[in-house]
Amino acid sequence: MQRCQWIASKPDFYIRYHDEIWGKPEHDDLLLFKWLVLETFHVGLSWQLILSKEKAFEQAFDQFDYQKIANYQQDKVETLLNNEKIIRHRGKIEATITNALAFIKIQKDFGSFDKYIWHFTNRQVVLRPESQKLPKTVSKLSDAVTCSLKEYGFKFVGSVTIYSYLQAIGVINDHDADCAFRLK
Ligand SMILES: [Zn+2]
Repeated sequence: MQRCQWIASKPDFYIRYHDEIWGKPEHDDLLLFKWLVLETFHVGLSWQLILSKEKAFEQAFDQFDYQKIANYQQDKVETLLNNEKIIRHRGKIEATITNALAFIKIQKDFGSFDKYIWHFTNRQVVLRPESQKLPKTVSKLSDAVTCSLKEYGFKFVGSVTIYSYLQAIGVINDHDADCAFRLK
């Protein structure tokens, strides 16, 4: 089966992610929050490392229940900092609490995070043109989303991170032109 070129040398769990998650339109708020959190932990690290810890993150962060995370106290932060299975970065762990609160604020304003994140493209998938490559790290779309998220108080959400997030949740479909998983 033809896949994106960059996935060829990756381990099975990464290939599974490429086949089943990456670029597939996501509309479930819990999963939209989960991938956003994992992308914030991605900052400065490889995605493969983060993905290898996906299950550990789920266990450590109450299956990404943002209502629970929004109420985490300092003792929980210390517990997470002692969890060797995840990324022990105080700034990112504390940002996850801040981001849960901001996420809930957006839900209140828009009805759901799904409605919010998809309104930037009128609920349409942005398909990378087959002939010309968009800049990988900079796009007006990710800049606009980043700017908006920052206004809501999100942390660890630079434009590169958000571009990666938009690819992950399928707002941007960046599969190679000849990849079997590219949206037709
Ligand atoms: Zn692909």
